[in-house]
Parts: sequence; C-alpha cells; structure tokens
Amino acid sequence: KIVLGIETSCDDTAAAVVDETGNVLGEAIHSQTEVHLKTGGIVPPVAQQLHRENIQRIVQEALSASRISPSDLSAIATTIKPGLALSLGVGLSFSLQLVGQLKKPFIPIHHMEAHALTVRLTNKVEFPFLVLLISGGHCLLALVQGVSDFLLLGKSLDIAPGDMLDKVARRLSLIKHPECSTMSGGKAIEHLAKQGNRFYFDIKPPLHRAKNCDFSFTGLQHITDKIIMKKEKEEDAVLVASGGVASNFYIRRALEILTNATQCTLLCPPPRLCTDNGIMIAWNGIERLRAGLGILHDIEGIRYEPKCPFGVDISKEVGEAS
Ligand code: ATP
Ligand code: FE
Repeated sequence: KIVLGIETSCDDTAAAVVDETGNVLGEAIHSQTEVHLKTGGIVPPVAQQLHRENIQRIVQEALSASRISPSDLSAIATTIKPGLALSLGVGLSFSLQLVGQLKKPFIPIHHMEAHALTVRLTNKVEFPFLVLLISGGHCLLALVQGVSDFLLLGKSLDIAPGDMLDKVARRLSLIKHPECSTMSGGKAIEHLAKQGNRFYFDIKPPLHRAKNCDFSFTGLQHITDKIIMKKEKEEDAVLVASGGVASNFYIRRALEILTNATQCTLLCPPPRLCTDNGIMIAWNGIERLRAGLGILHDIEGIRYEPKCPFGVDISKEVGEAS
C-alpha cells in the first residue's frame, strides 16, 4: 500500500508519499511562516492564495521524489478538518480533482489524529498510549486506543500553547531580532531562551491554584476500566508529545522529568514531524487503510470542517452521566 498525503490546514502546503511500512518515498513542503510573520499573524485569504500557488508544485515534487507512478498509489489522504476554512478548501478541492483524474480512493484526514499517530511511523508503539498534543491551535491530552479511537482527557480552557508563544513573540518583536527573523514565534523563544535566566521572573504555573475545586471520579473510573480491560501494565505506559510546540526541547525535558518520575516512557517524533508536514497525513492514510477505516465512498457529499472535535470528551461524558 502506498498513500499520497496532502496537508493545507493552516500555513504549510505539504505533501508526501509513504508506504505501508512507514518508508517516506517522497516529500515536499512550502512554509508560509515568513510571509505571515510580516503581517503579525495569518491572514486567511493570503494563506489561501499561497496554497493555491504552491499546491500543484508541492504534490508534483513529492510524487517525483518518490519515483513511483501515480497509478501505483493505493489512495490519496488529505486533511479536511480542523483548520482554516480557506486553507482546507484549497487542499480538498485539489485532492478531489486528483482523485477524479487518477481514479483513486480518497481518505479524509483529521489533522490532530495525524499529529497523534505520527509517532507510530517513527517508533514502535502499540495502542493504547497517552498523547499530549501541543500545537498552534490545540492543547489536548488524550488516551489513544486505536487509529481513530481517542478518549479526550483534558484540553486548554483558553488558547493553545503555540498561539500563546506566537503572541508573546509578537509582543517582543522577535521578528526584528537578527537571529530569529524567519523563525516561528515558538522557535524564536526557544532559541533565545537558551541564553535566558529562568529564575529571573517568578511565574507561577497555570492553574497552580485553580479557583474552583471541581473533581470527578467517574471519568477516572472510566479510563482505568478501559486500561485494565486492555491488560496494560503500568510500566508499559507511554506518553507521546506531538504537534509543533512539542518540538521545543525545553518542554521535552520538562515532560521527561514528569515521565521519569512516573515510570512512563516519553516519545516525541523528531521536530520536523511535530510541526505540520505531509508525511503525517500520508501515514495517517496508511494507518486508516490498515485498520479498514480508510476509504470514503461518497466523495460527492464531502465538506471541509474548520472546527471539529477530537475524540470522545470525557468531561462531557461525565456531565451527561450525572
Ligand atoms: P494545529 O496543529 O493545532 O492545527 P498548527 O497546525 O498551526 O496548529 P503546528 O504546525 O502543529 O500548528 O505548530 C505550529 C506552532 O508550533 C506555532 O505556534 C509555533 O510557534 C510552534 N512552534 C514551532 N516550533 C516550536 C518550538 N521549537 N518551540 C515552541 N513552539 C514551537
Ligand atoms: Fe498542526
């Protein structure tokens, strides 16, 4: 099985060809970061225009690099949710056109599912595992029970960490810093923090003293039940961190302290697979094919979805039960 993956949910136009064993046969990416840094944030119509200008070339480059004939593809997998409507639209309509031309099956991809499964391309990890997705638009902690089976344990009550880092970087005008002018906000902060003094400011961790005292035990019970049912031993527990912010080595070290203290193994895909890329989309396509979840037969009715939940939200389940 060989899948072409196409990603345009935000500000990267990316494509890759990946085979069943996780070999990356070809890859190409065009990043819009530098353009959006100049405007102090992503302007959706500008992102859309840049996707339009680059998608054909990027997909062609990934295919050429793979040295396979398009007729050898098993399917085309494309991010259709969640993301910027105008950006998602470019990838979806381009892909549907290609699907028609090549007469190939289409696999719609959830961008956060792709971030969550990337680690199975780089490491040998079995289900279930914990995943912490920290990125430009999300902060999600979930139990990954299968290719498309997620139990959402927690999420940000407000903005995502990447969004926060980008805002701080903008406030500090880091784009004007000679060493960081082309870096995303998060990357610039990581770069400069190497020379920083972390004791200079006394900043309390968020929710350090939360104003509410909410607790819930049915949720905890639910998850332990499931874990026990899968006969998962504690020492086998794995925490995966993925998404753009997980490329930050300071954050990785902090998570390592946590996992070392809890006999849990921390796994992170390499930074270039943590930020948006085509490989993760193609790999998600392979995972879906292997799990028999892949192909969408009614492509007439397919729409992109700017907003889309990720997994079963345990707090909602608890709310409904009580
Ligand atoms: P989402 O995945 O939630 O839809 P996205 O696709 O826009 O959002 P990603 O490409 O996964 O986000 O991640 C981009 C974010 O990661 C940006 O906010 C960027 O500042 C941040 N980021 C990139 N590199 C680093 C780094 N080294 N340290 C911290 N943050 C980083
Ligand atoms: Fe992303």
